[in-house]
Formats: sequence, C-alpha cells, structure tokens
Amino acid sequence: MIDEQMILAGLVFGLGACVGSFLNVVIYRLPAGISLVWPPSRCPKCGHKLGLTENIPILGWLMLRGRCRHCHTSISVRYPLFEAFTACLWLATFWRFGATWHTGGYCLLLAWLIALAAIDLDTMTLPNPLTSSGLVLGVVFQTFLGYQETQTIAGAVQYFMGSIGGMVLGIWIYDIIQILGTLLMGQLAQGGGDAKLMGMVGAWLGWSGVVLTGGMASFVGSAVMGSAVLLGSSRRKFPLGPFLAAGAVVSLFAGDKIIAAYQNMMANMDRGTNLILAGVMFVVLIVYLTYVRRSRRQRG
Ligand SMILES: [Zn+2]
Repeated sequence: MIDEQMILAGLVFGLGACVGSFLNVVIYRLPAGISLVWPPSRCPKCGHKLGLTENIPILGWLMLRGRCRHCHTSISVRYPLFEAFTACLWLATFWRFGATWHTGGYCLLLAWLIALAAIDLDTMTLPNPLTSSGLVLGVVFQTFLGYQETQTIAGAVQYFMGSIGGMVLGIWIYDIIQILGTLLMGQLAQGGGDAKLMGMVGAWLGWSGVVLTGGMASFVGSAVMGSAVLLGSSRRKFPLGPFLAAGAVVSLFAGDKIIAAYQNMMANMDRGTNLILAGVMFVVLIVYLTYVRRSRRQRG
C-alpha cells in the first residue's frame, strides 16, 4: 500500500537529493569565487556539458558509472555521496518532525550545515556569506514559527527574542572560551568564522542548542584529534566547523532527549561529583578549542 505519507517521504528524499546536487556546486564554487548559477555543470577535464539525464542526482553518476561520457575521466564518488547524504538527512527530518513548518525550516538549516562543514574540511574556512545568511534565516524562521504556533504578534516577538538570545549566546560563549583558552594556554585567538557558526546554531536552535552543540563538538573533536595523534596520523589540522555542524545535527534530532537524560543523571548525583564533572568538561572544551585555534588561519 502506498499512502500519502510515503509519497511525501519520496518527494522529500528526491528534493533533498536535488538540493544535495546544488550543494556540491556551492561547496566547489563558493570558496573559489565562481558564480553559483553560471556556467552549468560540465566535465572539468574536457568541458563536456552535462545533459539532462546526467544531471539527475545519484542516478546520473550511477548511469555513467562514475566517468565522463565524453572523455571517460572519472568523476569523484563524493558527488553522489553528498546527494544521498543530504537526501537521507532530509528524509530523517521528515520522519522526525512530520509534515510541519519545522521540517521545512530544519531542512534549510541542514543544507547550510552540510555546505559549511564540507567547505571547512576542504579549505579550513567558513565563508562569511554562508554563516551570515544562515544566521538571518534562523531568526526569520523562528519569528515565523512563533507566529504560526500562537497566531499572535506577541508570540512572534517572543520567538524572535529567543532566537536573538540564542545567537548572542552562541557568539558570546565562543568568545569567552576562546579568551579564557588564550589566557590559560597562551595561544593567539584568530578570526570569527566558528563564532558565527555557533551564532547561527543559536539563532536556529536556541540557547540549549548552543550549549549541546558546543559540548558535543568538543568531546567528539577531542576524541578524533586524540586518536589521530595516537595513531600517528600525518593530519594535524582539523577544522572545527564539521564537529560543530555534527553537534548541531545531533541537537536538532535528539536535543530534548539528551537534556532530559542529563537532568535525570544530575538529579541522582551528589554536588561534589557534579562539580568535578563540570570542571572536567570545561577543561576539555578549552584545550580542544585552543588546539583548533592554533591550526587555523585567519578567516572571515
Ligand atoms: Zn570529460
């Protein structure tokens, strides 16, 4: 039986794949300063323009078996992977939030996060146009949601203030940690790309989203960098953006459950253990952020 939900889910998946295809273009062209809409996609080797069927997300690559039809140069598997990844995240959003305005807004947020994480991995920068536009979109979305849910201007204003509060906290918490880290570890603080990304997360997910995202990013980031050092990997430079983006995605899908579990855990613990745990978390955060700072060049 095919019902309405399944058709909608299929549409969301297909749309996600198309947006993933466009994100491939953004990730490649935006840092290079090339127009996002012109020229249309072509083979980088021979300039063969992609036909209609070759442009179909995921399937186009599979039909060509990963090679240009004209000159047979191989096309990176990361293109269909990004398309499938975006489509799966969009489908997960639809499954989690249903046919609501939340799903529409969060799909946009995910598109921004994917593009930012990938560009940061490629170039160690978070382009200002992307973080700034994502930040503004978050405030607009929350204000709209406030009106939708309460049908009053007061509701819209309340959500607007919540979004601005989350944004300010995101930028502020990041700066505070960075300043403390600089004082403690003597590292030079640089740039504001990560702070802006945190501000963007705050605008979309509020203050609790910022705290969760920062906490998760530093734990996962420390684990990844620690294992890279232990395994003797030659890679020593890790951008922070992908960890922040991953933290934001987890906050988006499971934030309320994690906060409930945390409160439950804290309620069953004595004050001493509580303080020690908080201290350990804070030190991990500072060490991690200062380490990232050092391996990072100036960014906008
Ligand atoms: Zn070619």
